Amino acid sequence: MTTAGLALRLVERHFATRDGELVLGGVSVRELAERFGTPLYVYDATVMRAQLGRLREAIPARVEVFFSVKANPNVDVLRIFVGEGAGLEIASASEYLRARAAGCAPDRIVFAGPGKGREELARVIEGGVGEIHLESEEEIALVDALAGEEGRRVRVALRVNPRAAGGAMQMGGQSAPFGFDEERLEEVARLVLRHPRLDLVGLHLYGGTQMLRAEVVVAQWEATVRLGLALAQVLGRPLESLDFGGGLGVPYFGKETELDLAAVQRGLGEKVGPTLGDPALAGARLVVEPGRFLVGPAGVYVTGVRAVKTSRGKTYVVTDGGMHHHLAASGNLGQVIKKDYPLVHGTRAFAPEALLAVVTGPLCTPLDTIGRAVELPETRAGDLVCVLQSGAYGLSASPVGFLSHPMPAEVLVGDGEPRVVRSRGTFEEPLVGLPG
Ligand SMILES: *Cc1c(COP(=O)(O)O)cnc(C)c1O
Repeated sequence: MTTAGLALRLVERHFATRDGELVLGGVSVRELAERFGTPLYVYDATVMRAQLGRLREAIPARVEVFFSVKANPNVDVLRIFVGEGAGLEIASASEYLRARAAGCAPDRIVFAGPGKGREELARVIEGGVGEIHLESEEEIALVDALAGEEGRRVRVALRVNPRAAGGAMQMGGQSAPFGFDEERLEEVARLVLRHPRLDLVGLHLYGGTQMLRAEVVVAQWEATVRLGLALAQVLGRPLESLDFGGGLGVPYFGKETELDLAAVQRGLGEKVGPTLGDPALAGARLVVEPGRFLVGPAGVYVTGVRAVKTSRGKTYVVTDGGMHHHLAASGNLGQVIKKDYPLVHGTRAFAPEALLAVVTGPLCTPLDTIGRAVELPETRAGDLVCVLQSGAYGLSASPVGFLSHPMPAEVLVGDGEPRVVRSRGTFEEPLVGLPG
């Protein structure tokens, strides 16, 4: 399947069109662009709720979904998930404040991260938190000391870096700065137990992101259960908590297909479900903490075309949006091979393709390329080009200060009237503060 094919399939799956115009949360993208200006991030709450519903159907009923805030920290996005009964997974003190601003109860927040600072830990412990996921020996001592200063006990879990899970799975087994190697599980658990203010309640495993194969997801859950049982053995008591991590993928590039949730459901039912009834796990809170899967498909980055030009046989569509707002789409966020995100023309999504274009942004660098070989219909200045799958790791994972362009607005649709959930920056103050 070509990238254009994937883009059109995603439009049909998650959104609608009206007279060829892309419609997000009931409003045409043309109207959104006119009302709120471009470039613009649009998040559709309907799609977030649908993704959450799909996931809940696929996992055992007991498992609770916590949204991973770093995928999209907009407070109004968090509010949608919290409103649907999800908890939140955070990785900084500011994410903690956002989680609280979104109305998340402290005991429904878990805190992970390989290098948590003293001040942020103090802030989170003071405010109250469900669990802190411990990732180093220094952190074990620090959390215990801070708990002492606050005069309270803190619930902690061990983040574990698993051994390789067999065969072609290629899951885990790598060297990583995150958590403790599985080989040290017993030793580290005993160390935590020697700290009087820490309640070691369970275990957390986060193997990696963008899993598109059901058997890899199932293998990760199996590894988590296996390690959870091992920890319970060391503790000599049942676990209170087990966290399966996130990492569920969404398709971005031509040949990728959606994660087969029916296969995930079957696999978990066969290989994980029965063990969850083990006395060591029967009373535990079970958590899965995806980010990308829940919010990625809900976001569209809408750019306005400023120029269409040719240079030595190539056509360039120059837009007002680019890598400063969407590093991932430019291929510069961790991609080894730069491939094109799914792009569609905003008002003629299904019109016959007329050009093969390089879609760029306004920055003075060749890095600022949003698409390298994009099939588009007839396209002129003033048209809209939309980047799909942009709800996760978009704006907050981008070098927004580069070239001092104003931050784009973020707009939420599908939850009543479209509304600005973060306002556009100005020339005077391009980087308006994060909302919250
Ligand atoms: C980033 C992260 C997640 C979310 O990952 P996705 O791939 O977006 O699902 C979950 N848990 C932890 C600990 C993370 O660091």
